[in-house]
Amino acid sequence: MKKRGRPKGITTNCNRITQKVGTKCITFDQKASKETDVIILEWFVGKEIAKSAVDDGLVIKEEQVETCPEMVSTSCVDKLVNIRLIKKYCTEDAWKSINSIYCVKVELNLYICNFCKSNADAKETSVMCSLCLQWQHLSCARLKYAPKARHWFCYTC
Ligand SMILES: [Zn+2]
Ligand SMILES: [Zn+2]
Repeated sequence: MKKRGRPKGITTNCNRITQKVGTKCITFDQKASKETDVIILEWFVGKEIAKSAVDDGLVIKEEQVETCPEMVSTSCVDKLVNIRLIKKYCTEDAWKSINSIYCVKVELNLYICNFCKSNADAKETSVMCSLCLQWQHLSCARLKYAPKARHWFCYTC
């Protein structure tokens, strides 16, 4: 007999939007590898393609990879990110593309605020989300001071 009810870990809030319980307090390095694969892929191919690659085994082709380095999140060069993990979802050419963008990002070493899309270089005036690894200005994150807690999560996460 089929089990009824919603799957474990899923709850419905008063707006009848389904959301996972406890996603807020999980950091990038605590996430399951499939989920971090989606996060990393998303920076290069967008959310839709990233999800189909990881969930449905879609092989990413070269033409699906973002070609403009400015459009790719600098979070990809974060020390927590192992870019080689997404190689398995790509054709050889797509992987070459991703790798070359990655090299450009390493060289530029430019941090862009995820909110206002301008330079967020100074560590004192910006903050990194512990889940999506995106940087934001303190002001864009509506913070007066840098958060004291070890982990901070952006509005989207
Ligand atoms: Zn900003
Ligand atoms: Zn975030």
